[in-house]
Amino acid sequence: MSAATAATHPRTTASRSLEVIVIGAGLGGVAAAIELRRHGITNVTILERAPDLGGTWFYNSYPGAACDVPSHLYSYSYAKRRDWSQLCSPQAEIHDYIRDVARSHQVDGLVRPNTTVTDCSWSEESCRWTVQTAERETYEADAIVLATGQLHQPAAPRIEGADTFAGHSFHSARWDHAYPLAGRRVAVVGTGASAVQFVPEIAPEVAQLTVFQRTGNWFLPRKNRRYPAIVKEANRRLPGLQEFRRKFMFQYCEAITLAIRHPRTVGRLAGARSAAFMRSQLKDPDTRRKAWPDYTFGCKRVLFSSYFLPALQRPNVELVTDAITRIAPEGVVTADGTIHEVDCIIWATGFQTTEFMFPMSVTGRAGTELHEYWSGGAHAHLGMTVPAFPNMFVMYGPNTNTSGGSIIFYLETQAAYIRQALQQLTSRGAGAIEVRPEVEAASDRALQARFAGTAWTRCDSWYRDEHGRIVANWPGYMREYLQQASELSVSDFSFLPLPDPVSVAAPAPQEAGSLNA
Ligand code: NAP
Repeated sequence: MSAATAATHPRTTASRSLEVIVIGAGLGGVAAAIELRRHGITNVTILERAPDLGGTWFYNSYPGAACDVPSHLYSYSYAKRRDWSQLCSPQAEIHDYIRDVARSHQVDGLVRPNTTVTDCSWSEESCRWTVQTAERETYEADAIVLATGQLHQPAAPRIEGADTFAGHSFHSARWDHAYPLAGRRVAVVGTGASAVQFVPEIAPEVAQLTVFQRTGNWFLPRKNRRYPAIVKEANRRLPGLQEFRRKFMFQYCEAITLAIRHPRTVGRLAGARSAAFMRSQLKDPDTRRKAWPDYTFGCKRVLFSSYFLPALQRPNVELVTDAITRIAPEGVVTADGTIHEVDCIIWATGFQTTEFMFPMSVTGRAGTELHEYWSGGAHAHLGMTVPAFPNMFVMYGPNTNTSGGSIIFYLETQAAYIRQALQQLTSRGAGAIEVRPEVEAASDRALQARFAGTAWTRCDSWYRDEHGRIVANWPGYMREYLQQASELSVSDFSFLPLPDPVSVAAPAPQEAGSLNA
């Protein structure tokens, strides 16, 4: 699928076999490739920056990394397993799972690793995308699927003096396994879902751990021990049991969303449950005061751990809530003037979530730049399609993150939607499919309106962009997303004609149905 093959690409309706480039070989990219292949769209290439597939589960290998969504829900509906080692599988097990699924569905061979896409641009003349990589390769395809996710670009805060630090430092999503932490003085900046998982793991081995918290979190219990033999046996032998647990967990996740959507009622009850748990864990009054969140339950991600708060109360661990003012060669300086001397700083400061494909450049119809188009905040119809970007589909795009639920559920729904769009393209003999701007604008208005009154609006979080607009999360339930995205509505789209191989005049968009064969 290189530029060289593009010249010989068949452009006739009858023989048209779509070429698709998927960018990102994480859970989303793998889901897309499986779905397309299953439906006869076999000319798929997956370009992946990393040396292996797995996406977030390749990159996030910090100690204790696990998915806090139980694996019997956090798995593809067509690749359920009954032999998970524990409730919430560790990173290595999930990574193996993704590799197994990709292999058994024969999409592992479609992945081109070590390939960093820098630029995607749409040609109106050929109705094709040109994709360029940092390795100076050029690919062409009829359609692109951007499956880079929301959590792929680590964010290191710009703190004065960070480059003057004399010790070692790294981001939690790029864990330096070669650096021995044992016996060292370590600073962890950030107390989000990642820090909460690795702090209890490293606390016993380091000499001194200083955890810098900007905002407290709401916690719910999760021990996540390995399943006892009897539970494993039951899961393995009773097929209905795992299915029942999957359905139960689905409803449990929907209940978390219910609490977030209704902060004055159900949210209060859930918050009280969390507060009772936290009180039982935070015996030390000083740590309790410091760790306590000052915002509505559910506004930020609720964290599931029975180990983090006890770890904060270990004799060798200190929780610091004074603001970090600068980094000195010796360590971290806080607003009270203290220099916290450390050998290593671990940035657990999350990801550049609101910039989506950044730093990739994506240019659509009439030279429209995606970054500019989204400069007022990212938005896409059902998180997937963007006006002026024909034959481009985003997975885990704007407003499709979940605060309660399995992202795999959304990714599977999106893969099926994208497949339907491409089927429409071929069955109509069209060159391109593009969401109608008024449809996208209306769905975005309706979606944003759904945030009113919810807990998400009650604090600042990584779900919002610099204008305060919530661009990361879906405002409702998983079942609502399925209702809206399970069946592609053809009237939501315009179709561009397939260019005449002789004439290269730029085509004008036509209304849905106008190209019906
Ligand atoms: P995160 O949730 O964005 O947390 C970043 C932390 O760094 C927050 O505590 C934040 O404080 C702090 N921070 C950021 N900039 C700072 C600064 N300049 N000074 C001091 N503190 C700063 O990142 P994450 O923990 O890597 O998790 C990101 C997302 O990945 C999660 O929300 C979740 O969706 C996903 N994840 C999932 C799992 C799972 O088990 N499913 C596990 C890990 C991660 P503020 O709160 O004040 O902003």
